[in-house]
Amino acid sequence: MSTIVAIITAPGEAAIAALRISGSQAWQIAEKITGKNFTEKQVQLAWIKNEKEKLDQVLVIPFKKPRSFTGEDVIEIHSHGGFSCVNKILELVLEQGARLAKAGEFSAQAVLNGKMNLTKAEAINDLIFAKTDLARKNALNIYQGKLGHAIKNIREQLLNLLGEITASIDFPDEVGNYDVEKFKLYISTAITEIEKILETEKEGEILRNGYKVALVGKPNAGKSTLLNALLKKDRAIVTDIAGTTRDTIEEFYNLDGFPVILIDTAGLRTSTDRIEQIGIEKTKSIIQEADLIIELIDLSVTSNETHNLANAVIIGTKSDLTLQTKIKTDLNISAKNHANIDKLKEILKTKINEIAGNHANVKINHRQADLLRQSKGSLEKCLIASSLSEDFWTIDLRQAIQELGEITGETLTEEILDNIFSRFCIGK
Ligand code: GDP
Repeated sequence: MSTIVAIITAPGEAAIAALRISGSQAWQIAEKITGKNFTEKQVQLAWIKNEKEKLDQVLVIPFKKPRSFTGEDVIEIHSHGGFSCVNKILELVLEQGARLAKAGEFSAQAVLNGKMNLTKAEAINDLIFAKTDLARKNALNIYQGKLGHAIKNIREQLLNLLGEITASIDFPDEVGNYDVEKFKLYISTAITEIEKILETEKEGEILRNGYKVALVGKPNAGKSTLLNALLKKDRAIVTDIAGTTRDTIEEFYNLDGFPVILIDTAGLRTSTDRIEQIGIEKTKSIIQEADLIIELIDLSVTSNETHNLANAVIIGTKSDLTLQTKIKTDLNISAKNHANIDKLKEILKTKINEIAGNHANVKINHRQADLLRQSKGSLEKCLIASSLSEDFWTIDLRQAIQELGEITGETLTEEILDNIFSRFCIGK
């Protein structure tokens, strides 16, 4: 395995920046560029020097294989923050023969070296990207093994079952035939357990990617004012000139722990303005993708109708003015005066709870859900095969075991690993 290096802190000005070197050359490189000798886990203050000059004074933390994050020899260097110190050190480490780590490569090393399973590595990534407390808690639950254990238990039961069936196929005289009803019971139990975990998929997606709420309505309906009222800041430009929001604005909003992506769209109307037309087209595609649409209707003007959008909550706006329209709405608000904004939040929470009210400990991601669905499919095939002879039972059972193993990383190919870790950030 080659020695890899990456800056592991975010770019920008801060007190410190950190860099991680992992691999068999890590310690030699650190000793060469500092002129010091290191002892495992003893932090040392050192100067980093190239041939000509001192580059920075740093803290060096050495870890010995296998007692490190990656399971390899690891050196962590904490330099002064900002761009230039840490990049100079990175250049020097690269000159000494390390190569730049790919996205997620440290975590991939950790999984390959058995330091953690795949669900835990994914949980670290989730932790890094968690924007709310609920998202953090979910990531930490998975980090502590709650998902890994559940999957491992199901897989181990199926492995035992496979072992017993194989024994009865290989030694029918000694072991006897495996009871078909017992086989079906084991398989159905595993399917039920898988289905229970699968129920958390949608909530998992919301915690990771946010619940997408599109604010739509005619120009001047009050979309931008509502966005600003919810965010408690002036994010969107508010004017009384129709068509001001030509492009969409996406903002993160923490709704009691649920990450919500509020999307302020261009108003829905027919327009000859080319740029506004593009905005309107974009609005239409956002309407397709959104988890929820809030359609705003200006109650202070007479010419009004709803767009009859599916999955829309109808909100009447400008309730502080004289109401001219008698359209049936779910709620009337005055974003300008902050009237009924809390009630609107309650509606949002109810909607999220309809799909995310699951109180399970862990909420899975797409990759895990896909594999669970595949293994459930394989187990259903086992039930069909149960009417045939025992030889046929094991084919799909093996397949299900393989698929469950891919969730935790027990059965993995390099290609699968590359695919998963390429979505991680550099330095993780
Ligand atoms: P958008 O085009 O749908 O984004 O609408 P804006 O949020 O830009 O609002 C259009 C106009 O309506 C602006 O002049 C706002 O000040 C006004 N407006 C928005 N909400 C309210 C409200 O609750 N009450 C009143 N009186 N005016 C509002």
